[in-house]
Amino acid sequence: MVTLGVLALQGAFREHLTVLNSLGVEARKVTRPEHLEGLDGIILPGGESSAMVRLAAPTGLFVHLGERIRDGLPAFGTCAGLILLADRLTDDTLTGFDRPGGLDVTVARNAYGRQRESFVAPLEITGMTPDFDGTFIRAPQIVETGSAEVLARHDGAAVLVRQGNVWGGSFHPELGPDTRLHAEFVRRLGHDD
Ligand code: GLN
Repeated sequence: MVTLGVLALQGAFREHLTVLNSLGVEARKVTRPEHLEGLDGIILPGGESSAMVRLAAPTGLFVHLGERIRDGLPAFGTCAGLILLADRLTDDTLTGFDRPGGLDVTVARNAYGRQRESFVAPLEITGMTPDFDGTFIRAPQIVETGSAEVLARHDGAAVLVRQGNVWGGSFHPELGPDTRLHAEFVRRLGHDD
């Protein structure tokens, strides 16, 4: 039995907890460094990354989380969560705040436009048929993929990447009925290939 954490400072963490529970996975909220103990993996949800970095700062949560990820803790960042995991951002809006990092990509915040420009797109994900409907909301774009493997693209841009056990997606896999991406993240826990 694995235990996953879901970063629960702000944003769509309840939806991730619901999906994980529906898969029979024990999942608990992470808001403080001590909540990282005993986890087999963590999901960083969508929401507002600029709020999350501020809420995490007082306890140093993201410094601890970054250390754990570099030590091998599997992590999956969706949307704002991807921004937190990205090693590089194209703008300096979060400069001065700790982020965990761990994913060798460059990300542009809000590159897919405003809230009212949100959209759902069918994504062809490596190893997954049929297509996965990805929900994009003020989504970040992965503009440089470094050493990460690209698992899906939309209009040519990478929207789902994986580097070992660290995953990042521009979209919200927790908002649709499709649980295959969560299931795949869980299935691969502990496998480095
Ligand atoms: N635009 C948000 C940010 O920069 C992310 C949006 C989302 O998570 N849906 O943090």
